[in-house]
Amino acid sequence: MRIRTTDHPEHHCGIFGISGSQTAARHVYQGLYALQHRGEESSGIVSSNGQKLFAHKDMGLVLHVFNDGILEALSGNMAIGHNRYSTTGSSELSNAQPIVIDCKLGQIALAHNGNLTNTDSLRHRLAEAGAIFQTSTDSEVMLHLIARSDKSLEQAVLDMMDQVEGAYSLVIMTTNKLIAVRDPHGFRPLALGRLGKAWVFSSETCAFDATEASFVRELEPGEIAVISNGALQSLHSKRKVQKHAFCAFEAVYFARPDSLVYGRKTAIIRMDMGRALAMEYPLTADIVIPIPDSGNYAALGFASARGIPYVMAFVRNHYTGRSFIAPTENRRQATVNMKLNLIGELVDGKRVVVVDDSIVRGRTGKSRCIKLRQAGAKEVHMLVSCPAHIYSCLYGIDFPDRQKLIAVTHSHDKIVKELGLDSLGYLSEAGMAKAIGGTGLCLACFNGKYPQYCSS
Ligand code: SF4
Repeated sequence: MRIRTTDHPEHHCGIFGISGSQTAARHVYQGLYALQHRGEESSGIVSSNGQKLFAHKDMGLVLHVFNDGILEALSGNMAIGHNRYSTTGSSELSNAQPIVIDCKLGQIALAHNGNLTNTDSLRHRLAEAGAIFQTSTDSEVMLHLIARSDKSLEQAVLDMMDQVEGAYSLVIMTTNKLIAVRDPHGFRPLALGRLGKAWVFSSETCAFDATEASFVRELEPGEIAVISNGALQSLHSKRKVQKHAFCAFEAVYFARPDSLVYGRKTAIIRMDMGRALAMEYPLTADIVIPIPDSGNYAALGFASARGIPYVMAFVRNHYTGRSFIAPTENRRQATVNMKLNLIGELVDGKRVVVVDDSIVRGRTGKSRCIKLRQAGAKEVHMLVSCPAHIYSCLYGIDFPDRQKLIAVTHSHDKIVKELGLDSLGYLSEAGMAKAIGGTGLCLACFNGKYPQYCSS
């Protein structure tokens, strides 16, 4: 049984692809290593030598799934890779990605970040038409839709995009083509880069830094970037959306602080969120404490705007991972304690502002507040660098059922009481959106306005 050791939603898959490198699989390995935070359950790489695809996938961290011998066997100058955290489909090797099929278009491998919202109806329709599925993932549904087309691969991908709903950033590879796809809403990130003469795609730009690739641009929502014979061709889906809907929570929490979002490092965006919190909640306190690592930069922004000392009073153990095997549910508290420890001497007698990126169920916030009080904190105020979560995410972020969200089940005053706080403040939607910038955000888990396609 996997026990959550965090109150934060889990990450959901990282993808990486490269075309035009003699050491393609090794670059994908480096890229996946940098994207480990987006998925820790399984990892996989598929390479192409121009005639044939070679695959290796296994459960576990990138470091444990691959070794020199395995990377050597993944030959060819093109490769794609995937780190998985399951959103649809159970956590088992058969659901690990990239998924590889052999069809009339030849061998195709696909790696997916996101979550489709019409999987059940598509899967039913495909099964009725005789499709046999090797996994329980929504990603395989997309591959089936591509494989059933009588057209070119590019047109087959465009036809698939006409049928699926929801969030998907993809890297797709045949023996001689690499294709990157971003859904028309642009829910999940996908960036284009160059490594010498090679083309690279990555969920986040931190993986470009790891591979010494240079960032070119983000893929546009609805774009299909095709790399063939060393050249890039860009196509676009004709599907129209009411507005672009990049996941705001990528900027708040998921993306690594050294990755770019709308051209700015996420760390800078989070500092702006902290400054916006300082405008909205001009609290007076002795120290500002981040909940590491996700609250670090927002706390820094708040502390500098308010002129209050920034104190790293919580120490995170980086070796527990985001989740690990624990024998029983009631050991959750022990695992939480192992992950975050308080240096009590730093908070004794102090008025404290704690900054975190979110409160989902409120499970860990309460125990942290108790520890702060036990260590002698005189006041404990909590600030959150996004609005309260009151709706589920349909697009691949593992928020629980609405009825498990503390902001749904408790009034504001009750949350303050339940967590043992003196006060609690959430960043406003406008404050968060201004800090992120960009051309259109998904805010559905905050306001219930789920992004829609245009009807015609
Ligand atoms: S609902 Fe929330 S978590 Fe899900 S894609 Fe939209 S902003 Fe992101």
